[in-house]
Amino acid sequence: MRAPEVGGVRLPDGRGQVLRLAQGASLSDFADKIDVNPSQLVQALFNLGEMVTATQSVTPETLQLLGEEMGYKVQIVSPEDEDRELLESFDLSFGEDEGGEEDLERRPAVVTVMGHVDHGKTRLLDSIRSAKVGEGEAGGITQHIGAYQVTVPVDDVERTITFIDTPGHEAFTAMRARGAKSTDIAIIVVAADDGVMPQTVEAINHAQAADVPIVVAVNKIDKEGAQPDKIRGQMTEYGLVPEEYGGDTMFVDISAKQNLNIDSLLEAVVLTADAALDLRANPDMDAQGVAIEAHLDRGRGPVATVLIQRGTLRVGDSIVAGDAYGRVRRMVDEHGQDVEEATPSRPVQVIGLTSVCGAGDTLMVVDEDRTARQIADRRNARKRNAMAARSRRRISLEDLDSHLKETSQLNLIIKGDNSGTVEALEEALMGIEIDDEVQLRVIDRGVGAVTETNVNLAAASDAVIIGFNVRAEGKATEMANREGVDIRYYSIIYQAIDEIESALKGMLKPIYEEKQLGQAEIRQIFRSSKVGNIAGCMVLDGIMRRNAKARLIRDGNVVVEEMTVSSLRREKDDVTEVREGFECGLTVTYSDIKIGDVIETYELVEKPRD
Ligand code: GDP
Repeated sequence: MRAPEVGGVRLPDGRGQVLRLAQGASLSDFADKIDVNPSQLVQALFNLGEMVTATQSVTPETLQLLGEEMGYKVQIVSPEDEDRELLESFDLSFGEDEGGEEDLERRPAVVTVMGHVDHGKTRLLDSIRSAKVGEGEAGGITQHIGAYQVTVPVDDVERTITFIDTPGHEAFTAMRARGAKSTDIAIIVVAADDGVMPQTVEAINHAQAADVPIVVAVNKIDKEGAQPDKIRGQMTEYGLVPEEYGGDTMFVDISAKQNLNIDSLLEAVVLTADAALDLRANPDMDAQGVAIEAHLDRGRGPVATVLIQRGTLRVGDSIVAGDAYGRVRRMVDEHGQDVEEATPSRPVQVIGLTSVCGAGDTLMVVDEDRTARQIADRRNARKRNAMAARSRRRISLEDLDSHLKETSQLNLIIKGDNSGTVEALEEALMGIEIDDEVQLRVIDRGVGAVTETNVNLAAASDAVIIGFNVRAEGKATEMANREGVDIRYYSIIYQAIDEIESALKGMLKPIYEEKQLGQAEIRQIFRSSKVGNIAGCMVLDGIMRRNAKARLIRDGNVVVEEMTVSSLRREKDDVTEVREGFECGLTVTYSDIKIGDVIETYELVEKPRD
């Protein structure tokens, strides 16, 4: 059998062989696997109309297509699979409790509060915190660490509940999107004086899609116009039938403002968890959990709030969290107090990572620092590849020419106060719809102040730095001024997006549209030694205009595409325009004109972008 030709390049025959490639792999990675020179693949793709370099990562579709052309079955390995394989290569796995039934112990439910804006999510989280924590705790709550625990007596047993302290389903879905199931139960808050609103429905959908049981908090019952029964009726339409109507969803009427029925709500959470879920974990294994928040602290370095899911985390443990690693130097709880160990469902701030991990990243204890570092390094490399793939837009061959000549690219460096916002901002920016002529690239991102290193990179690659809730430190500002680097500070995501969007639009070259001016037929030709051939014309329609762009049409064919009307006369006078039905004499920047030719004038007008 002949070797297949792809885009005119002879390549090996895959013969149906399965080829596993990572999402975000480059042509170089591909070439390695099939033992050809990467430049052959680059050439083949180029001929097929796509220009990529050997080390750029390419889209899964491109890998599939290229593979298929050669007769390979390409399997794109998802980041999750890849990570599982990475852990397996170290004899590790994430997500399973070790041991059997007898090793499992009850753990507290982890709760997220969701609902429509202004229905009282934040207020509820605040009142639960201040009402419940502090009871018996020295000093009470001193810190927002992203989650906290409270206790409530249910049937004379003190039961603990963990609350994720950032309300809203963005956080919930963001974590879910990364495969981290951090929530056991959702409290959906509905204001009794307002009723079910769009975000209420969204929250219900998100919780149901994640298979998370719902407790409904009917809030603001202290308000005039509160109609808690109406809410029950409305929620029934979304499959949430109150217990008192024979369904299995618990509804609790509360006032977050007046601290009314908060205990009943907590009790409902415990009862719902007991009825619907089997919340147990093995506390006697190396800890595994999920980072729900992470930031860079000036004094303490990278700080991550971790929710332990199984096992027990102890000071001194070697850990890897996403692409960060380190050793637990200290753990601090929501009261600002040091803790030595954290058991399942317990949120703690972990200090000792060497860099800031992402919100939603998994954390696990490994036996050696070296293992932690190796896993982190591999994840880091993979993340860079994936980012590179995401931040690039495809260039097709048709665009290539204009691309090389005209590309305007806006390079950005994003710095923010925590990894969640940096990611959110980057994602939102990459989602801006713009013309292919302009490209947006995030060349670096990170948590923490804008540093001199950032400014250096920005200067070297003409990038704009975005500081989100952070400022420049040290001599960075001075250096930016000196180097002419633009640093922009924002604290509202939408504002950042708006400004970048208008900047991008400003970079777009104007689009011109042709507008026809008129046509004239050459009736006579006068030879002049001074100006060359003068065309004696009759303007058939529209106008002839001096300096206008024109084309020459002979027997219906365009003979000359681009020429200019260089002089224009009526009788003996130089004029700027001659209208339809009048004779004129004109010269054009093309001398081989003939009687009967038609001169068509046009102009280019700028078309506004929308
Ligand atoms: P979120 O957007 O859902 O987090 O809502 P907030 O917690 O910020 O609350 C929105 C507004 O409703 C604030 O002005 C709160 O003080 C008020 N609010 C929250 N709960 C109650 C309540 O139970 N009763 C009354 N009267 N007002 C409340």
